[in-house]
Amino acid sequence: MQGYTPGEQPQGGAFIKLNTNENPYPCSIDVLEAVYLALARGLQKYPDPMATTFRKAAARVHNIDPDWILCGNGSDDILTILTRAFVGSGDLLRLPTPSYVLYKTLAQIQGAQSEEIRFNDDWTLPPEFAASRPQLKLAFLPNPNSPSGTMVAREAILDLADKLPCPLLIDEAYADFASFNCVDLVAQNEKIMVSRTLSKSYALAGLRFGYLIAQPQIIHDLVKVKDSYNCDSLSIAGATAAINDQQWLAENVAQIKATRQRLTAALAELGFSVLPSEANFVWCTHPSQPAQPLYAALKNERILVRYMNYPQWGDGLRISVGSESENMRLLQTLARILGVKLR
Ligand SMILES: *Cc1c(COP(=O)(O)O)cnc(C)c1O
Repeated sequence: MQGYTPGEQPQGGAFIKLNTNENPYPCSIDVLEAVYLALARGLQKYPDPMATTFRKAAARVHNIDPDWILCGNGSDDILTILTRAFVGSGDLLRLPTPSYVLYKTLAQIQGAQSEEIRFNDDWTLPPEFAASRPQLKLAFLPNPNSPSGTMVAREAILDLADKLPCPLLIDEAYADFASFNCVDLVAQNEKIMVSRTLSKSYALAGLRFGYLIAQPQIIHDLVKVKDSYNCDSLSIAGATAAINDQQWLAENVAQIKATRQRLTAALAELGFSVLPSEANFVWCTHPSQPAQPLYAALKNERILVRYMNYPQWGDGLRISVGSESENMRLLQTLARILGVKLR
């Protein structure tokens, strides 16, 4: 198999990193305090296998019971647990395209097939996404989607879940930056599950913490296939403090959305076509400038963005929303590369 290629992570601080949708701002100070305290308590004992303190805190935030939550070592771990539980060798995993490339790799690891359903031109999903197929065991849908930053409506998701013969995971890695989410749909249809991560909106990509929201009977069975201690003591302490600081989250998200709006407008001014984004990144293409050389020219200027090329769909640049100053640097550099003036 090919294996998944993550975005470049240059070790050393010289780059402006706008390629893997990390948060440009430091996390809540409460997280640092909680991690230091956990460290001071010592690491000789195993952590709580179910990360109970986090489940209780997240349950309060989402207004559900803790037994609807399963914690993971990043939400990629949640995706792995789900694939391991539902998709056996010879089975089928469904995903939309263009979308998160990791899903395909997870199917391959299981010795399973994956089926890619192309988004419609308006970023809705065609009815084939809900079609019954023998061996179809699980469907993944990122919402907001990556790399487009677009969303499928709640009504459409309820309808898909109704028709699908298998569970549907809504990957809400970017939902905190969006105008709506699907957490409350989990109670309406047991086939609907939602995954979240602390990597993006909570600025904790380095901590590795994510979670799943699903009906309790499903969580109960998923526990059987996870690593016993999939989350460590420090990450449980940090993640609990993070989710308890909803004020930090609200302020951070407001800042990123404001920068996203300025970035979208300025890229359009530079001649790019930019999709309106509900996430902390934007997808853009240029009518006359090929994306790959632009990516290379930016990298040459120590600015990393993500160049994506999807077979049968096309290529473009996915640019994470950075801090205000990173955003300015990006736009000035792009203007210089393109030889155009920015207002
Ligand atoms: C970033 C991302 C994830 C993974 O997040 P981690 O919690 O860091 O593993 C999952 N799904 C999508 C669509 C993402 O972009």
